[in-house]
Amino acid sequence: LVTRMHGFGATIFGEMSALAVRTGAINLGQGFPDTDGPQPVLDAAREAIASGLNQYPPPTGLPVLREAVAAHQQRFYGIHLDPDTQVLVTVGATEAIAAAILALCEPGDEVVTFEPYYDSYAATIALAGATRRTSVLRFPDFAVDEASLRAAFSDRTRLVLLNTPHNPTGKVFTREELELVCSLAREHDAYVVTDEVYEHLTFDGAQHIPVATLPGMAERTITISSGGKTFSTTGWKVGWLTGPAELVAACRTVKQFLTYVGSGPFQPAIAHGLGLDDGYFEGFAASLSAKRDLLVTGLERAGLRVSRPSGTYFVIADAAPLGASDAVDFCWELPERCGVVGVPVSVFHDDEDAARTLVRFAFCKQDDVLHEAVRRLGALS
Ligand code: PMP
Ligand code: GLN
Repeated sequence: LVTRMHGFGATIFGEMSALAVRTGAINLGQGFPDTDGPQPVLDAAREAIASGLNQYPPPTGLPVLREAVAAHQQRFYGIHLDPDTQVLVTVGATEAIAAAILALCEPGDEVVTFEPYYDSYAATIALAGATRRTSVLRFPDFAVDEASLRAAFSDRTRLVLLNTPHNPTGKVFTREELELVCSLAREHDAYVVTDEVYEHLTFDGAQHIPVATLPGMAERTITISSGGKTFSTTGWKVGWLTGPAELVAACRTVKQFLTYVGSGPFQPAIAHGLGLDDGYFEGFAASLSAKRDLLVTGLERAGLRVSRPSGTYFVIADAAPLGASDAVDFCWELPERCGVVGVPVSVFHDDEDAARTLVRFAFCKQDDVLHEAVRRLGALS
């Protein structure tokens, strides 16, 4: 059957989690934590259900969450937003990405993005009938290559789809890199849609710089985030997008026909989370930083070449030293060989040769799980 989604099969995350369940392997594939989020946030959801917040919330989201999103952007980044016109609550960041691209792109428009890219980007660009133009971030440092980025822009560029901190590389874009991207966007009069779901997961002093804080960018930028990563509640699917009222209204028009609304009682719970004190956000990043160290050290001991991430909860390793010639085959065989699941990075690429032997592992897992995973990988060589 030839459809607009021809060529897009099952997502790698669903496939790899199913493989983990089937084989009983440790799942370092799909990125989700194996512990619950903060107790006050969980309690707030229970209270919301008990208090009867179980019907459709308003189409733009409950006021308490829109206000909390605006207050969070002000508190952490000094960004001022009107919660009534500049914040839209969505069903996860995934819906926000889809609503923004469908709202802003006409068929035939081009979207510039980096590869490897998060898997929904390619699919959503295809849904909009737009074309993706990519610039490759290369292992092991994943630096922006100015020449290929410039070459990805054309007179058909409608928007740039950015992600910082970046999944799957763990890269946190530097100010210089963001300024280059933004100056090209301004030159081509393009919008920027920036996916910042890992905004609080940065390590070693790396600073997350929201695109909307760069000069001249607020008026052309849609910023996306979600409560899933920050509060370890990936199943709640509470996301949001923010930006100029006119762009947010365009996204709202699309969003209301995708899902209308979602996640009713989880919205006030995430609002509560966004208001937690700085200690929560710093403590969570510190705990993930220690897990990053544990996994990076373990993978290196196991013989892999590792790119040390400064953000997110993913690490990319080169499995070539373990004899891997194709990470797709390697990852499918890994549960049988040693009881661990990882994700081949080539599935996030158009240029698969850029990542032939690279594997992404998630470290948002309990320490004993990570210890056991690296012990098993170490027994491979
Ligand atoms: N963007 C990136 C970069 C992601 O890693 C994810 C996965 N959480 C999403 C978007 C989707 O977020 P959500 O689960 O809130 O839809
Ligand atoms: N963001 C998660 C990851 O990259 C998975 C989200 C999903 O399964 N769609 O692993």
